[in-house]
Amino acid sequence: AAQPAQLQTSASAVQEVREITRIERIGAHSHIRGLGLDDGLNARQTSHGMVGQLHARRSAGLILEMIREGKIAGRAVLIAGQPGTGKTAIAMGMAQALGQDTPFTAIAGSEIYSLEMSKTEALTQAFRKSIGVVEVQIDRPATASGAKVGKLTLKTTEMETIYDLGQKMIESLTKEKVQAGDVVTIDKASGRISRLGRSFTRARDYDATGGQTKFVQCPEGELQKRKEVVHTVTLHEIDVINSRTQGFLALFSGDTGEIKTEVRDQINSKVAEWREEGKAEIVPGVLFVDEVHMLDIECFSFLNRALESDMAPVLIMATNRGITRIRGTNYQSPHGIPIDLLDRLLIIATHPYKESEVKQILKIRCEEEDVEMSEDALTVLTKIGMETSLRYAIQLITTANLVCRKRKGLEVAVEDVKRVYSLFLDERRSEEYLKEYQQEFMFNQIGPVARDEG
Ligand code: ATP
Repeated sequence: AAQPAQLQTSASAVQEVREITRIERIGAHSHIRGLGLDDGLNARQTSHGMVGQLHARRSAGLILEMIREGKIAGRAVLIAGQPGTGKTAIAMGMAQALGQDTPFTAIAGSEIYSLEMSKTEALTQAFRKSIGVVEVQIDRPATASGAKVGKLTLKTTEMETIYDLGQKMIESLTKEKVQAGDVVTIDKASGRISRLGRSFTRARDYDATGGQTKFVQCPEGELQKRKEVVHTVTLHEIDVINSRTQGFLALFSGDTGEIKTEVRDQINSKVAEWREEGKAEIVPGVLFVDEVHMLDIECFSFLNRALESDMAPVLIMATNRGITRIRGTNYQSPHGIPIDLLDRLLIIATHPYKESEVKQILKIRCEEEDVEMSEDALTVLTKIGMETSLRYAIQLITTANLVCRKRKGLEVAVEDVKRVYSLFLDERRSEEYLKEYQQEFMFNQIGPVARDEG
């Protein structure tokens, strides 16, 4: 007998986990809701929380079109520009515009260095997190007696075998025994998982829960075959669920460790089979690697090869480095990226903002952080932003607001901004300070301050 409900729910649970990690990551960019383009792919000056940087946004929009048309694999994009020119913001805008069904993974180059797993394993996981598997199901008429109006759409037995740990997961969450044929649903708002019963006949009730367990309503006599896209999971999620050493709980802890090659091989051939039989489709998503100059020559060679796969996601990289040493070699190269990889990249440049744009971004951030700021204070903050950095100015919003609340003020005034400006050093003042008091610090170096070269 089939175990449709369990399969469905394990996938939904996975979806929930993914949403939570996504929220955590985008804190600094939570005001970005898309790329802010019109139908002709032209960037509006201010839209979707995005300001200026029109060229780069338009280019990003074109790449999005490419991704949306689907089936393209192995494209790589580099967003290059000075610090704080919105490289990450643009990548986030792309992710937002793609919507939830396209997997989007963001990592920083330095994240791949850990004691728990090799660099290539970390990259492999990042790649597989960015490749979606959409299960496509041909509905068959419901045969259960009394099933008049509804039926569950998931019946693929192969998926069940590969997901057999899903049952345990549901049991541990609902604290109830579940069996084949049980209907289990996840309440999207609360994340609560509940067991609804065993009957397939009350399809309308289940629909009304707004959960992710999906029923298709079909009047009697109209039970013909229909093609329905059911849900997306990523290859990485399938890996983890089927990795006996780790188990499904690793999805919650994020503590996946290395996954055996045999497990991946098995899953790859299973997925290939599903594709051939028309049961599943591959959705290449987006892998965003920030600070890509932190990768070393071995990683770059891995990327070059991984991009050749027909399942490869679109790779977006960002860096603020100019010509610099390629990690792991003595060679210099533009952005610290080897020439053979550079050669296959589409490069988007970002440029420093005009004063009016900095002001607009700061204003949006104030709204996002629920901070009332007087026009004068905003002007002063903008000046600070132009002279130091956008990042620094953004940091001052919350701190100035705290100072304002301490003095029981209703909106942040110039004095609050001045106060936090004097309390917290920006990068340049910090450097000047260090130079001045060099002798009193440990590890001081006589001579010019050595700039980090990655
Ligand atoms: P770095 O090279 O230091 O990583 P970056 O180019 O990735 O910098 P971001 O982190 O994207 O810069 O930008 C700094 C802050 O400014 C973020 O909070 C970002 O959301 C915001 N920001 C940057 N550009 C824009 C923009 N065009 N519109 C709205 N917000 C922006």
